[in-house]
Amino acid sequence: MSTPSSAGYATGRILRPSAKSLPEHSRSHNRALVLQTLYRSGSISRADLARATGLTRVTISDLVAQLIADDLIVELGQREDARPGKPATLLDINRTGFQILGLDLSDHALLRGGVLDLDGGILERRQVLLENATGQAAVDKVLALTHELVAAATAPIMGIGVGSPGVVDLGGTVLSAPNLGFRDLPLQQILADATGLPVLVANDANAAVLAEHSFGGALSDTMLVKVGHGVGAGLLLGGTPLFGSRYAAGEIGHVVVGTDGGAACACGKVGCLETWLAIPRLEANLAAAPDDAARDLILRQAGERLGIALAPVVGALDLAEVVLSGPAELLDGPLAEAAIETLRNRTMAEFHGDLTVRMTALGQDIVMRGAAAMVLSGQLGVS
Ligand SMILES: [Zn+2]
Repeated sequence: MSTPSSAGYATGRILRPSAKSLPEHSRSHNRALVLQTLYRSGSISRADLARATGLTRVTISDLVAQLIADDLIVELGQREDARPGKPATLLDINRTGFQILGLDLSDHALLRGGVLDLDGGILERRQVLLENATGQAAVDKVLALTHELVAAATAPIMGIGVGSPGVVDLGGTVLSAPNLGFRDLPLQQILADATGLPVLVANDANAAVLAEHSFGGALSDTMLVKVGHGVGAGLLLGGTPLFGSRYAAGEIGHVVVGTDGGAACACGKVGCLETWLAIPRLEANLAAAPDDAARDLILRQAGERLGIALAPVVGALDLAEVVLSGPAELLDGPLAEAAIETLRNRTMAEFHGDLTVRMTALGQDIVMRGAAAMVLSGQLGVS
């Protein structure tokens, strides 16, 4: 297990190692490759591992012995259908030996947390009402939730993952999260100091796209658009998270959509994507609509603006799918249909004709589970 300071799921590293490393590469790559193979396949023998990874049996034996000593791999017993001769011993990741804490700070009204197993299942839930707390008062609530979760865990804690709104750098400092009053807040260090555990803090949409990749079946080239009080996105390209030069990749909420004006935005501009799509705005517009046809039109217009904003991104990055996260009763239906129509009309059919826009199946647990995926990736190199 790495130390808190060295943990990181990030830059430029593909999430799922899939080939053995060259001699000059590190042993840690092969260790992650073995863990990744076991994490996705489960219950296989040393010989199976050697075949799947391309590593020699000697190397596998050596790595497995070390990983058993570290308590990260367990022997499950012998294969029942083994042919005559020495039966093969089956191995797996030690799925019950550790737990992960996941925190979601992205809801405007409450902080959510969970104790998760290594497969991303939520074993325990806790939440703390935000009650409009900002700054240090909000940090205190995050700390209180964290301590509650530590107390609720029933196995050694592998690490703590946190999805925060706003822009977060690769060291887990929240550079700016206006809703929580965080500015240059070293949240990762604060939580590590408070718990003595490895901690990873990332933007909520970046956490969410990892959840979709690990637990929701997302492709390796995916954009996840998270719609709530704000609008943000997380991007995976070639299975690698994209952060951008100022850690603000995916911050599409304050991109102006169109040249025809629109509503005034909190940021000072007019016609930002958030003015069409943010949930409070949508709900207010829908509440003022006289009938179903008017409601339908409001949802379709929001979807169209989303499609306009996403089309150049889909074209530039050759994405195969866009995943939406947020209230399904608003996003799924006319809004998503208008978004896909607009995207198809504005991109090249021969490349993007089969593009899909779909709702995540992970519901409101997506950030919490993504926070756990960050810890799995940072501590074990698996996803
Ligand atoms: Zn704006």
